[in-house]
Amino acid sequence: MARVAFIGLGNMGSGMAANLAKTGHDVRAFDLSEEALEKAEKNGCLRAGSAAEAVAEAEAVVTMLPAGKHVRDVYETSVIGKAPPTAILMDCSTIDVATAREEITKAQAAGYLMVDAPVSGGIAAAEAGTLTFMVGGTAEAFARAEPFLEIMGKAVIHAGGPGAGQAAKICNNMLLGASMIATCETFVLAQKLGLDPQTFFDIASQASGQCWSMTSYCPVPGVGPETPADRNYDGGFAAALMLKDLRLAMEAARSVDSYTPMGSGAEELYTRFAEALGGGGKDFSAIIKMIDDSWQAPEGAAPSPPPGTRLG
Ligand code: NAD
Repeated sequence: MARVAFIGLGNMGSGMAANLAKTGHDVRAFDLSEEALEKAEKNGCLRAGSAAEAVAEAEAVVTMLPAGKHVRDVYETSVIGKAPPTAILMDCSTIDVATAREEITKAQAAGYLMVDAPVSGGIAAAEAGTLTFMVGGTAEAFARAEPFLEIMGKAVIHAGGPGAGQAAKICNNMLLGASMIATCETFVLAQKLGLDPQTFFDIASQASGQCWSMTSYCPVPGVGPETPADRNYDGGFAAALMLKDLRLAMEAARSVDSYTPMGSGAEELYTRFAEALGGGGKDFSAIIKMIDDSWQAPEGAAPSPPPGTRLG
C-alpha cells in the first residue's frame, strides 16, 4: 500500500479520498476547510497541516480543486519541489487545457510524472467509486496513475498526451449542454403541439432524435427513468458547474479558432439561467423551466425574461 497525498476534500474529493483510504492506502489529506479535514479523518485519512506536509514522502499525489488558479497555486507552491520526484502527480480537477499543459510541463521539467485526470460523474459516483477518468499524459505517467484512479472509478481512459483529459472532458460537456437544451426545447414544443410527453419520449427514444439527455436524463418529470426532474431538479449536476465547463470549452475553442455556434449558444443560455435567473444550484436539466417560462426566480435574482429574449 502506498502513501497518497490528497489535496482538496470538497464535494468530490471527500468521497475519492475515502475510497483510497478504504483500500488500505495511507492517505495524508489537506484542505483549507476545517470541516472538510474533520470529515476526511472520520473517513480514515490522516490530517496534514499543509499541502506541502501532505506531499512530503508521498508516492502519489491527487488534487481535486475548484479551478485552474487553485491548481497552479497548489502545484507551484506546495507540490513541485516538495513531493519526492518519484511521486506520480494526478490532477483530477476540471480546469482549462492551457493551465493543465503548463503545470504538467513544469512538473516534468522538475523530474515528475504527471497526468491531468478530470472526471465524469457527480458526488454520488465519487462516493461509490464509479467515476470515469479521462486521462492526459505520457504512456509512462498513465501506467503509474491507473492503479490509483481505478480505485476511485469504474473506467479509466487514456485520452492522449498532456491536457487531453481536460480536452475530452470539456468537449463531452459541451455536447451534453447543447443536447440538454435541444432536448428541453423539443419537449416544450412537442407539448405545445399537443403531444403527450411520454408518448413523444417513446417515439423519439426509438427514432433518430434519440440522445442521452432524453433517454437517460429526461428533463420532464415523470418521463423516462428517475432523474433530478423527479426531485424538483435537486441533486445531479449543478447548472453552475455546467456553465463553468461551457466557459472552459469556449475558451479552448477560441484558442484554436474552432467555430462552435451550438456551444456558444449553450454558454449564453446557461449564463442566463445559472447567473441572471439564479438557477445555478439546480440540476442543469432545470433549464427547461426557463425555456417553458415556468421558472420562479429565487429572491434577489432577476425575473424571468420572456422566452426567446437574448441576453446583453
Ligand atoms: P468543492 O468546492 O466542493 O471542493 C473543492 C475543495 O478544494 C474545497 O473543499 C476547498 O476548500 C479546497 N481548496 C481550495 N483551494 C485549496 C488550496 N489551496 N489548498 C487546499 N484545498 C483547497 O468542489 P467539487 O464539487 O469537489 O469539485 C472539484 C472539482 O471537480 C472542480 O474542478 C469541479 O469542476 C470538478 N467536478 C465536480 C463535479 C461535481 O458534481 N461536483 C463533477 C465533475 C467534476
